[in-house]
Amino acid sequence: MKIEAIRARVFEWKGATVPPQSNFCSNAMDALYSRKETMNTFRFHSWLVVEVETDDGIIGLGNAALAPRIAKAIIDEYLAPLVIGHDPWDYEYLSQRMYRATHAWGRKGVTMAAISAIDIALWDILGKCTSRPVFKLLGGRTKERIPCYYSKLYRTDLRAMQDEAKRFKDLGFTAFKMRFGYGPAHLQKGVVENLKSVEAVREVIGYESDLMLECYMGWDLDYARRILPKLEKFQPRWLEEPVIADDIDAYVELNRLTEIPISGGEHEFGLYGIKQLLDRKAVSVVQYDTNRVGGITVAHKVNALCEAYSVPVIPHAGQMHNYHLTMSTLASPMSEYFPMHDVEVGNELFYYIFDGEPVAQQGFLQLDDDTPGLGLSLKSEYLPQFTVIG
Ligand SMILES: [Mg+2]
Repeated sequence: MKIEAIRARVFEWKGATVPPQSNFCSNAMDALYSRKETMNTFRFHSWLVVEVETDDGIIGLGNAALAPRIAKAIIDEYLAPLVIGHDPWDYEYLSQRMYRATHAWGRKGVTMAAISAIDIALWDILGKCTSRPVFKLLGGRTKERIPCYYSKLYRTDLRAMQDEAKRFKDLGFTAFKMRFGYGPAHLQKGVVENLKSVEAVREVIGYESDLMLECYMGWDLDYARRILPKLEKFQPRWLEEPVIADDIDAYVELNRLTEIPISGGEHEFGLYGIKQLLDRKAVSVVQYDTNRVGGITVAHKVNALCEAYSVPVIPHAGQMHNYHLTMSTLASPMSEYFPMHDVEVGNELFYYIFDGEPVAQQGFLQLDDDTPGLGLSLKSEYLPQFTVIG
C-alpha cells in the first residue's frame, strides 16, 4: 500500500454565529493594553481538513485547528512531498521524517499541527485497511466507556452559568469545566468576580461533582499566587493554564503552592515538550491535543510517558482522535467534552464538519468496537455554510 495523494482544505465558517459575551474567558492577550475587549476578536472559525489517499483507494481523514491556512500551506509545500509514495504502515518513519525535515523552523506550533493532521489521517487509513477502530491498534479497550466532563460554562452572568450547569447536571454529567472571566487587569474587583463565579457553579453542582477551572493563560504568576489559596475551599479538580505556556517556571511554582493540581499542555508540542513539563513537575494533568502534539504516533508515546510518571493525561477538546487515545490507555481517566451548540467561539465547529463524533450519554462516551478507523466522515449538511479553500 502506497500513499498516492494528500489533499489539505480549509473550511471557513460563513454561517450565523452567536457573539459570546464580553469577558467570557480570560486569555493571554489580556496582559496588553488594548482599546478593545480582547475576547471580542477571539474566534476559531476555520478548520483544516486533510485527506490522505492510498493507491488502493482508501482515504484517511485528519484535521487540525491552529492557523488552518498556514497549516495547509505547510502541508502543500513541505509535508506532502515527504509522505507521498510511502507505505502508511511506516508511520513512525513518516512521523520522524516530517518532524526532522522541518526541525529548523517547525518543532512547535502550526508545523506540528500540520504534521498531526497528516499523522491522524494515516492512522485512519490503518484502521480502515484492517477493519479495526484506531483504538484497537493502540492497545484496545481499557474502559467499558469513557467518562467525560462537560466543558463550556463561559463566564456570563452568574444566573446563566448556574442554569447551564443545572441543565447539564440534569443530563447526567458529574464533571464540569468553567471559564474565568477576569485577570490581573481587572484588579481586586475581578478577583471577587472570579471567586463569585466558582461559588455560583459549586452551589448548583455540589461537591460530589468535579469542577475544573480554566484560565486560558490569562493570568500572571503574581495574580495566580494571590488567588489560588482563595480557590482551595472550592476543591477544584484542577486549575488549567494559569499563565502563558512558555513560563514553565511559573507552572512549577504554582503546582507546588497549594493542593490544587495545575494542568496544562494544550499549547505544548511534541514528545520532548511534554517530557519537559513532566520532568519539571510543572503540571499534574497533561492536556495535549492529538491534532497539535504530533498526531496519534506522538500522542501514543506521550501516553506511555504519562503512565510512567503517574500523571493523568486528559486530552484537550474531545474529538475522535483524542477519544481513541483515551480509550486505549489507563493513563487517561476521562475525556473533555465540548457540547454541540450554535457556532460561537469555534470550539464546536468540528461537529459541523464531521459526521460520527459521539454524543455523551449520562456523562459517558462510547466508541464502537466494529467501526473501522476513526469513525469519521465529512458532513454535507452544513457544507453550504462554509467557504472551502483548496
Ligand atoms: Mg484549556
